Amino acid sequence: MELRLYNTQTRKKELFRPIKSNGVGFYSCGPTIYWYQHIGNMRTYIFNDILKRVLLYNKFKVKHVMNYTDVGHLTSDEDTGEDKIEKAAKKEGKTAREITDYYSKVFEQDCKKLNIIKPSIIARATDNIKEQINLINVLTKKHYTYKTSDGIYFDTSKLKDYGKLAKLNIKELQEGKRIGIKEKRNKTDFALWKFSEEPGVRQQEWDFEGKKGYPGWHIECSAMSSKYLGKQFDIHTGGREHIPVHHTNEIAQSEAAFGKKPWVKYWLHAEWLTFKGKKISKSTGGLYTISELERQGFDPLDFRYLTLTTIYRKRLNFDMESLKSARISFEKLKNIILELKNKKNSKGDVKQYNKKFLEAVNDDLNVPKGLSILWQVLRDNKIGSRKKYSLALKFDKVLGLNLKNVRKEIIPRRLKEWKKSDEIREAIRKKGYQVEDTSEGYKIKKSL
Ligand code: AMP
Ligand code: ZN
Repeated sequence: MELRLYNTQTRKKELFRPIKSNGVGFYSCGPTIYWYQHIGNMRTYIFNDILKRVLLYNKFKVKHVMNYTDVGHLTSDEDTGEDKIEKAAKKEGKTAREITDYYSKVFEQDCKKLNIIKPSIIARATDNIKEQINLINVLTKKHYTYKTSDGIYFDTSKLKDYGKLAKLNIKELQEGKRIGIKEKRNKTDFALWKFSEEPGVRQQEWDFEGKKGYPGWHIECSAMSSKYLGKQFDIHTGGREHIPVHHTNEIAQSEAAFGKKPWVKYWLHAEWLTFKGKKISKSTGGLYTISELERQGFDPLDFRYLTLTTIYRKRLNFDMESLKSARISFEKLKNIILELKNKKNSKGDVKQYNKKFLEAVNDDLNVPKGLSILWQVLRDNKIGSRKKYSLALKFDKVLGLNLKNVRKEIIPRRLKEWKKSDEIREAIRKKGYQVEDTSEGYKIKKSL
């Protein structure tokens, strides 16, 4: 059963064949660590995790690299505005490093709560300045760059196929108004390096070209992915808004510098989590974080379960009602798993289910279908408890719902007691306490 993935580059589901026989090179654009990651961001990281788990389920060895953007991402995804990290440091009265250390730690805790497997390598942009400068120098030697008063830019007109990922209509784009492009030669040109406006004011700046400055946002991903995965690798992922700018520019600079085409064989993009039909974003308030969902009495894995009910290429609209129904289904599932545990009956043949599950997840990560196959197994009277249990744990290698560690909760959580359980938890919360499930049962803690 072969794995097929939808490649944004070709707009087709393609058979997945890694470039090298010894493993899969996989790069994901990571968070900009200046603020909490909201649940929309977390949907994208769950998608990355599912992709990795499906690769592992297919017995591929995976080297997964993710970056932390801790410099250079401006408030506009283009080359204008303030550096998000510098802005947050000013606002919170902290050093840039304090900001990025704090938010990366929270992010890592959230990933753990969502049972996301850690990347093989996490690379910070500020730890790889030398690599980024080297890459800019390679591009300059090949005549792809030019200097302006505020930075070093990539000349996109030097590439015939610039914009191919997003299928941008370059002619139309360039012919548009030239407002705001200042000294740039073409509208689509982008900054590889920016000079500090006033040296000594920014917290994070480095010497290059005889001045103080800092890297542009796109160069970090090309520099760090090639450092760890080589000049050509298998899979690159990110949220879908990265297609027209960030990933388009990553491709331009990498193919120009490394001379390999395609630089990346498969591009996969996650659709958004929306709220009232609009993309959830930090700039519009960010809505919920994982901790906020916990404060409201949810298990972070309830949110993971919710995301598994829609394929990654479809928008998922978030509301409390759908999260609550995900919780009900997940609780049902956990209770069934608990009942099956330690039972002996191993009648029945699960070969067909095994096959159907693999077919589903290998069809461009159709996890909702995989989940429904799990439910079919659990409802099938011809299959014994022991077989159901071990198959559920096997499927969970992809789903990542941590079914192996499900434990009995002391507060009633059986189906018919759901309402009662919620009422009890709510009453406890109103008194200023929180119910926390731990490996020794539940604990009641004073809310912060
Ligand atoms: P950022 O920290 O803003 O750079 O975003 C981190 C990741 O989250 C990127 O891959 C984004 O594409 C993704 N992302 C941002 N907003 C959403 C959303 N509403 N739904 C899904 N993914 C998102
Ligand atoms: Zn990136």
